[in-house]
Amino acid sequence: MISACVRVGREADSITLIAVSKTFPADCVLEAVLEGQIQFGESKLQEAEAKISALPETLEWHFIGRVQRNKVRKMLENFDVIHGVDSLRLATCINDTAKRLELRPKVFLQVNIGSEESKGGYEVCDLHAEIGRLFELERLDIQGLMCIPPNGSDAEAARPWFSAMRELRNRLETENNVSLSALSMGMSSDYEIAIEEGATHVRVGSAIFGTREYNVTGESGQS
Ligand SMILES: *Cc1c(COP(=O)(O)O)cnc(C)c1O
Repeated sequence: MISACVRVGREADSITLIAVSKTFPADCVLEAVLEGQIQFGESKLQEAEAKISALPETLEWHFIGRVQRNKVRKMLENFDVIHGVDSLRLATCINDTAKRLELRPKVFLQVNIGSEESKGGYEVCDLHAEIGRLFELERLDIQGLMCIPPNGSDAEAARPWFSAMRELRNRLETENNVSLSALSMGMSSDYEIAIEEGATHVRVGSAIFGTREYNVTGESGQS
């Protein structure tokens, strides 16, 4: 991570490393905590709840999975940052629930930058259309944009998607006079490229915790 920062002249402390601990037990998280890691990412609410309650309250938890509207309350009770906001309907639901709980959660707007059917996230044109109304939701502390780019043959294949995200962010900011300073992009295989293209948050799992083994039902962590 440091070498990627040096290459493009960025300070390492301008980038937040989110350690993605999905499928790994609380013990593994605790080991990382003892190394000084504070931010962790999880993509399944039920799995995360047990871990979060077993670990120190000082940690910052990022929800990086698909958000279900009927689980928003539980999500807000457990997580500090929500990365998967991808519709006005969901954003409004989070806003209303946050109001009841007297919270003002940090959120990222997820963009389906490769316009893939299998992935969540805003289509770019829909985000342009709804951005003004999203910023009217006063209980949401909108940080910026998040994406999971299409799987490529190598890390370099992700570069054009990451730079497209940066340009989209810049355009949304100037056209709507809003701040979207954060860019959550880059995973184990391509986080260095993401940093070179302006990521402020990288979500790294297997490069920290090792290879994941999914459970017998074959569920993937991204569903
Ligand atoms: C699992 C996951 C990651 C981390 O993936 P690795 O390849 O293990 O680094 C990052 N972001 C999201 C949304 C994920 O679901």
